[in-house]
Amino acid sequence: MYEGTGRPVYSGIAIGRAYLYRRNSGQLPAAGGDAAAEQLAFDQARETARLQLTELCEKTRRELGEEQAMILDVQILMLDDLDYLDGVRGRIAAGASAAQAARDTGEEFSALFAALEDPYMQARAVDIRDMAERLVTILCGGDSGFSMPEPGILVAEDLTPSETVQLPRDKILAFITRQGSANSHIAILARIMNIPSLVQADIALDPALEGRTLIVDGFAGRYYLDPDEATLAALTAKRDEELARRRQLEAYRGVPTVSRGGRRIQLMANIGRPEDVQAALDGDAEGVGLLRSEFMYLGRDNFPTEEELFDGYRQVVEQLAGRPLVIRTLDIGADKQVDYFGLEKEENPALGYRGIRICLTREDIFRPQMRAIYRASAFGPVSVMFPMIISVEEVRRIKAFCETIRAELTAEGVPFGPVELGVMIETPAAALISADLAKEVQFFSVGTNDLTQYTLAIDRQNAKLDEFYDPHHPAVLALLKMVVENAHAQGIWAGICGELGADLTLTETFLRMGYDELSVSPGRVLEIRKTVCESEV
Ligand code: PEP
Ligand code: MG
Repeated sequence: MYEGTGRPVYSGIAIGRAYLYRRNSGQLPAAGGDAAAEQLAFDQARETARLQLTELCEKTRRELGEEQAMILDVQILMLDDLDYLDGVRGRIAAGASAAQAARDTGEEFSALFAALEDPYMQARAVDIRDMAERLVTILCGGDSGFSMPEPGILVAEDLTPSETVQLPRDKILAFITRQGSANSHIAILARIMNIPSLVQADIALDPALEGRTLIVDGFAGRYYLDPDEATLAALTAKRDEELARRRQLEAYRGVPTVSRGGRRIQLMANIGRPEDVQAALDGDAEGVGLLRSEFMYLGRDNFPTEEELFDGYRQVVEQLAGRPLVIRTLDIGADKQVDYFGLEKEENPALGYRGIRICLTREDIFRPQMRAIYRASAFGPVSVMFPMIISVEEVRRIKAFCETIRAELTAEGVPFGPVELGVMIETPAAALISADLAKEVQFFSVGTNDLTQYTLAIDRQNAKLDEFYDPHHPAVLALLKMVVENAHAQGIWAGICGELGADLTLTETFLRMGYDELSVSPGRVLEIRKTVCESEV
């Protein structure tokens, strides 16, 4: 057994097989050119793979011992397996590219092994696939595709937001990344998915990890590789306890979120993609308080069309069946980079061309999104809020723009509903002028992740600064108090949609401050409701 640590970003226990994340290089060349040239390329790739595996095997033997090294020895032997080589040769002769032939033959053999009775032979299916994918990677001169045939624990160096949107979410039991911070988007995704996860983990990304048993303890910030029986039993018991605790929280499903002192607060969910709405409903959220709409722009090669955006929003509205939805307009830039936006590299992206700054200068991007949002509002309650606001002037420009969208749709005879407009308070400037902003809109939603970053001058993405990133800082709490007071003075509502909203140690403080809404990860709704219901405030 090997035991390591990481920074927990979501609690819980997961037990499963390890999957190493490999970057997807896109489409493989399906058809080969000259069969002789493809065969030569394959033979050369085989020699490169042999060298790589031999080196890895020696390293593994030194660092992890004989048993782990043997897994790689098996893969080296497989490189010479005559049946595999015949399969590849046949496919190349039939016109396939070397990469496609290596992958397809690998899949064929892997399926054969997986179907065998003997558990040892079954386990070799993973090795064959791993060996074949190594060949594909070499042949494509880059990284290989990523797939998870079975549920398991994803181990990665780090994941960009565009990579996270392409993951097979239904298969992931937990994340372990070597990099990442408590506020990065992989952490946000783990919270949406309600799965234990560790960032900044001291785990080696060795191919020998693939398929081995891992336990992630998101409470203690530990993981166990090849757990011994006692550890497996203890952690299984801990997992069952946690499941029992979650079952007890079920008593709060469908219950109004009202404190003993009679304060009512609306508990909403944060989601990324339209398909996450099911997680919000499963979590018993009263609606969606933050749809991070930029996720619909990530992981693709071109701008989503108005129609695609409209379909996505309408799907959420319809599934929410009358519950409110707050869409945040796209917040691209900073950590969420998308190639087709053609944004220049910046020295200080968090202080750069991002969020509303892009929308206000790129009408070609803003218009389809706003039209799609208005059109979706014909199907149920929709509000829209704008990220990274720093001035009243910006809000007035946005309102004028919304007016033109409404006029356009009216002229076209396209129906839309009464869309409330809101400002995300996530810059100190917005908090400090919130008395004036409150005169312009119908609600505020405080983005405490960025508000903390900008108030404390601490890059939320920089893992080295996590110990200094303190959302409980009195300056942040003072701004939070000021914002809700200014909102109420103008008769508008205020909520919190940053991660701090789910901090149970502050739930009573938020009630006292008078917050009307908290929008949190779907899996946190019931425990916050319990805390509110038990509060005397
Ligand atoms: C925030 O900044 O708190 C927020 C909710 O937005 P994001 O985390 O997407 O920047
Ligand atoms: Mg933000």
